Amino acid sequence: MSKITIDYDKCDGPDCAECVDVCPMEILVIEGDKVVAKNTEECNECMVCMDVCPNEAITVEPEE
Ligand code: SF4
Ligand code: SF4
Repeated sequence: MSKITIDYDKCDGPDCAECVDVCPMEILVIEGDKVVAKNTEECNECMVCMDVCPNEAITVEPEE
């Protein structure tokens, strides 16, 4: 299970949504005016979301 943190001071939200588009597990979703992480236990730790984020707003920390 991974700890996925979105820094809302840096995140551009649904106007960006780059991470939402690339996540292969559909963990990152738009909810209202925010991008949120759901079902984080299904994260495969591919780190693609961190790679595409233009603002370094998202952090994935693998947890045992
Ligand atoms: S690390 Fe991969 S699977 Fe996990 S939230 Fe990011 S893009 Fe999705
Ligand atoms: S890619 Fe980064 S800035 Fe864009 S919605 Fe995701 S966390 Fe926010």
